[in-house]
Amino acid sequence: MQDFLETNIMYLPGVGPKRAELLNKELNIFTYRDLLYYFPYKYIDRTRFYKIAELDPDLPFVQLKGVIKGYSTEGHGKGKRLVADFQDDSGNLKLVWFKGTKWIMQSYSPGIEFIVFGKPSVFNGMINIIHPEIEASGKAAERMTSALQSQYSTTENLKNHFLGSKALSRLLGNLIKQINFRLPESLPTYIVSKYKLMDLHQALHKIHFPSDPDEIEKARYRLKFEELFYIQLNLIRFKNNRARKFKGFVFSSVGENFNSFYHDNLPFALTGAQKRVMKEIRRDLGSGKQMNRLLQGDVGSGKTLVALMSMLIAIDNGYQACIMAPTEILASQHYQTILKLLEGINIRVRLLTGSSKKSLRNEISESLLDRSLNILIGTHALIEETVQFSNLGLVIIDEQHRFGVEQRAKLWQKSINPPHILVMTATPIPRTLAMTLYGDLDVSVIDELPPGRIPVKTMHFFDSEKNKVFGFLRNQITEGRQIFIVYPLIKESEKMDYKDLEDGWDTISRVFPAPQYCISVVHGKMTSAIKEESMKLFKDGKAHILIATTVIEVGVDIPNATVMVIESAERFGLSQLHQLRGRVGRGADQSYCILMTSNKLSREASTRLEVMIRTSDGFEIAETDLQLRGPGDIEGTMQSGIPFDLKIANLGRDGQLIEYVRNIAEDIIAGDPLLETDINLILKSELKRLFSKRQSWSSIS
Ligand code: ADP
Ligand code: MG
Repeated sequence: MQDFLETNIMYLPGVGPKRAELLNKELNIFTYRDLLYYFPYKYIDRTRFYKIAELDPDLPFVQLKGVIKGYSTEGHGKGKRLVADFQDDSGNLKLVWFKGTKWIMQSYSPGIEFIVFGKPSVFNGMINIIHPEIEASGKAAERMTSALQSQYSTTENLKNHFLGSKALSRLLGNLIKQINFRLPESLPTYIVSKYKLMDLHQALHKIHFPSDPDEIEKARYRLKFEELFYIQLNLIRFKNNRARKFKGFVFSSVGENFNSFYHDNLPFALTGAQKRVMKEIRRDLGSGKQMNRLLQGDVGSGKTLVALMSMLIAIDNGYQACIMAPTEILASQHYQTILKLLEGINIRVRLLTGSSKKSLRNEISESLLDRSLNILIGTHALIEETVQFSNLGLVIIDEQHRFGVEQRAKLWQKSINPPHILVMTATPIPRTLAMTLYGDLDVSVIDELPPGRIPVKTMHFFDSEKNKVFGFLRNQITEGRQIFIVYPLIKESEKMDYKDLEDGWDTISRVFPAPQYCISVVHGKMTSAIKEESMKLFKDGKAHILIATTVIEVGVDIPNATVMVIESAERFGLSQLHQLRGRVGRGADQSYCILMTSNKLSREASTRLEVMIRTSDGFEIAETDLQLRGPGDIEGTMQSGIPFDLKIANLGRDGQLIEYVRNIAEDIIAGDPLLETDINLILKSELKRLFSKRQSWSSIS
C-alpha cells in the first residue's frame, strides 16, 4: 500500500508521460503521494448565490444565477471586448470578454439560465465581471466535486498545457477513486485518539474534497499537526542522541586567566543578562555533556565579551578555542578587540583569513600543534584542511546565519571529540520559530543592553528632501561625528550593478568636497587589503563619511559614528534595517538613523518604515518581519534544518501548534528515546522516510 503511493504519476489516468514531465518540472510532483500532498491554497464556497444588487467590487469570487439578455461589442483595438448584459431578479451587470468571444456567443445563448462565477469589479461606474466562468444551472447539481471548490496554485506553463487548478482537482479526483483501500495511518493510533485527530485517510480525502468548512478545519489541523510534529520529533531525538553519544570535555575549573581578566581587565561591570548567560554556559561546560548552545542577543548587547570569557574558561582547562566570523572585516575586528581586552595577560591569539601570508600560516600551524596557540580567530580559512588543532575545546561561531551548514560540519570534524559549540547570532528570532530553526540547540538570550545607551532616533526622508539631510550631516560632522551611508546591494556578486553606490559616491563627494571632507568607500568588489585600509581610515576617525554596501551590516563597532543613512531603505528587509541601525548608538552621543526612500512606497514598505520608527526592540521587529514576509524569506532562516518544503504548516503563523507538538514529542522521547516500543515503531519508520535522504544536516549543531 505504501508502494501504491510511490507509483509514478505518469500512470495516473489523465496524466501520461508528457503531463508527468510538466508536473515533475513545475510542481515537483513525481508520485501519487506527491499529488495527494499537493494541497489547495484556498477554497471557494459555491454553496452561496449572490444577488446582483448585493455586489460590490471588494467581494472576492461570487456566484450568481441569471440570464444573458444580449451581447454587444465595445471598444476597439486592444480594448475591443465582448459584453453580455446579465440579469437576475435584483438587477443587471456586464460580463466582459477580451478573448474567445466567438466561442462564448455560440455556447451561451440569451434567455437560458446560467450560473456565473467570477470576481466583481467596477468599470465606468458599473459592476462587471471579466472572463467569468459560466455553466448551465442544471449542470451544477450533477457536479462531482463538493460545493467547496479547492483551488490549487499552478504555473503559467501548466495552464498553457491545460493543467490549471480545475484540471489538478480532476486528477486528484481520479487518484482518490484509485485508492480503494484505507490509507495506513502515519501516526500511532494512541496519538490520533489522544489528540482527537482526524485519521489520515479521511484527512487526505477531505482536504481536497470537503463538504463543509468544519471538515476543512479538521483535515488541515490533522495534517499540520503531523507535519510539525515530525519535525520536532526529529530535532528532539537528534538532540537526545547526541547528548548520549558525546561525552563533552569537562571544564571543571575557572582558573587564572579567567580570574585575572575578570578582576584586572574587564572594562565595565557585566550586565545582568551577560552574567546570567555566563552562568548557563559555565554549567554546560562543566556538565560532562557537549555544549550546543545558541546565544541570541540584539546588536550591541555585548556578545563578544561572553565569547571571550567562555574561551578563557577553555584555556584555563588546557584547551584551545577558536572564533569563526563570516567576513574578514569582522574577524579582524574581533582579533583587535580581543587583543586589547587581553592586554597584559599571557595568552597567544592569532588571526587567520584568506589573505594571511604563508609564513603566518606556518607559524599558526606549528603553534596549534605544539599547543602554544590559545585562541585562533578567523573566517572560513579556519576550516581548511590544513588547519589542525591539537586540542580544540570550544568553537564560537559568530553571526552564524552567514555560515553554510556544511561549513559548520567541517569545523566539527576538527577533533576526535567534538568541541563545545557556541553559536552567536544578532538576528532576533521569535521564540516559536527558533524552536524549529535551532530546535536541537539550547538557547541563551541576552535581553538587556549595556547601561547608558541612548536610543537611536529614527527618521524617514524622501529623496526629494536630500538637501535637508545633507545639511544635517554637515552639522554632525562639524560636531566631530562620523557618518555611514549605505546603499542596497543585497547580494554581492561579480556581475552586480554598482550603479547606486557609484552615483551616490558622485553626489556625496560633490556635496562634501575634499580636502575639507574625507570620504571612505567599502564594497564587496574590493580586495580585502583595500577594504581593510578604507575601514581603518574610518575607524581611526580620519574619514568623516563611510560609503558602503551592506558589507558593514554585521558587527562593525565604531562608537564615534552617530549617523546611519540608509539609501533606498524601501529595498531592505526589516531585519537588515535593524542590523544596519545597530551600527550606531554605541557611544555616548545621540545617534540617528535616516531612512531615505523614493516618494512612491508600497504599503508593505511603508509598514516596515513605520515599525523601524516606532521600535528598536529586535524581537518585536522580528515578529513583524515574520508576519509581513513569512519565515521562508527571513534572512538567516534559509538553512532551517528542514530538508523539505512545508506543505501545509507555516512556521510563522503556527507558533502555538509548534509549541504544542514539541511538548508531545519531548514526552515521547523521554519515555522511549530510541523509539523502540511497538507502539512507536511507526514513528521511527516515518522519521526515516521523511528525513533519511538528507540526514547529514543534523549531525552538526
Ligand atoms: P554584539 O552583541 O553586537 O556583538 P559587542 O560585543 O560588539 O556587541 O558589544 C557592543 C559594545 O558594547 C562594545 O563596544 C562593548 O565593549 C560594549 N559592552 C559590552 N558589554 C558591556 C557592558 N557590560 N557594559 C558596558 N559596555 C559593554
Ligand atoms: Mg558582534
